[in-house]
Amino acid sequence: MTKFSLPDHPHRRFNALTGDWVLVSPHRAKRPWQGQVEKAQNDSRPAYDPKCYLCPGNERSNGDTNPDYPGTYTFVNDFSALMQSTPDGGFTDGELFVAESERGICKVICFSPRHDLTIPEMEVEQIKGVIDVWQEEYRTIGQVDFINYVQIFENKGAINGCSNPHPHGQIWASKSIPVEPAKEDKRQKEYFERHATTLLSDYLEKEIASGVRILSQNEHFVALIPFWATWPFEAMIISRKPAQNILAFDDSERRALAAMYKNLTVMYDNLFEVSFPYSAGIHQSPTNGKDYPWWHFHMHFYPPLLRSATIRKFMVGYEQLATPQRDVTPETSAALLRSLPTAHYKKSV
Ligand SMILES: [Zn+2]
Ligand SMILES: [Zn+2]
Repeated sequence: MTKFSLPDHPHRRFNALTGDWVLVSPHRAKRPWQGQVEKAQNDSRPAYDPKCYLCPGNERSNGDTNPDYPGTYTFVNDFSALMQSTPDGGFTDGELFVAESERGICKVICFSPRHDLTIPEMEVEQIKGVIDVWQEEYRTIGQVDFINYVQIFENKGAINGCSNPHPHGQIWASKSIPVEPAKEDKRQKEYFERHATTLLSDYLEKEIASGVRILSQNEHFVALIPFWATWPFEAMIISRKPAQNILAFDDSERRALAAMYKNLTVMYDNLFEVSFPYSAGIHQSPTNGKDYPWWHFHMHFYPPLLRSATIRKFMVGYEQLATPQRDVTPETSAALLRSLPTAHYKKSV
C-alpha cells in the first residue's frame, strides 16, 4: 500500500469554520491544466443604459428616480425579501412544524454610476468608497433595535443569477442570525474558549507560513483559497488583525481591503479573460449589542465557473444528497490564480 498523500488520493477535508466537510478527488484532475480559454461573448456595455433601473437619473419600478450620483448610491430594495413592518409572532404545531416571524431591512448599493464597470475594473479609491458605505451601513443598520445580523454581499454575473449587470451589491439585515454565520459563530466561539485566540488568526498564521494557498497579501489583508474550499476557485479575504467587524478598520485599512478586493477579482477576470461571476460577502459579528471577541472579519468568494467562461460547476447529485465534492485541489487552483498577470486583461492589450 502506498502512503496517503493529499495531492494524489481521494480524501475529505474538514471546514474548521463551519464544521462541514468537502470531498476532494484529485486523481480525477490528474491531466495537466489545459489552460483552455473559451472566451465568452463580448461583454462590452455602455457607460449609461437608459433602461437600467440602477443608472443615475433613471426611474425605478416603484416610481422613484435615482439621483445623479457621482460615486455610490444606496436605497431600500424595491423588492425587499425582508420587511421592517412584519409583526412579531410565529407558528408551531408540535415539534415538527415550526415557523417564526422574520423582520429585516434590504438595501441595494450601486458601486459606481458607470453601468459598464465592475469591481476589478474600478480604481482602488472608488472601491474604497464602496467599503466606506459598507462600514456606515453596518453601523447604522446594526443600531436598529430589532436587527441582529447585517449580511453584506455581492452577486455578480448572469450565469450566477444576477439580474442586472450594473455594478451593485446588497444588504439583507435580519432579526435572526442566518444559518452560515450561525455555524461560524459556534465554531469560532468554541475555538476561542479553548485557545484564547481567534480561529482565523491561527489559521492565517499557518496559511502564510505554508504559502501554498495564498493568492495575495498586503499590510492588512490576505487573500487565499481556503484549505476546505468547495467551489473550484472559492476564495477568502481575511484581515490580519482579529477584527470583530468592519467598524474596526480605519481609513488605511479600508483602502487596503479595497486593494485586496481588486487584486482578487482581477485574478478572477484574468483566469478566463471574462468578467468572472461570483457571489461574495462579508462575515462579521452579529449586531445585537453583545461583545464577540471570537469573531474575525472575513469575506467569502464563491465563483461558479469550472474550466472556462461558459462551463460552470453544479452542486447536484452526490453534492446535494451527500457531501460537496471537487476534483482540482485548492492548492492547484491557488497556483493557477497566482500565475496570472496582475494587470486586468482589458488594460493589458
Ligand atoms: Zn446601469
Ligand atoms: Zn465566513
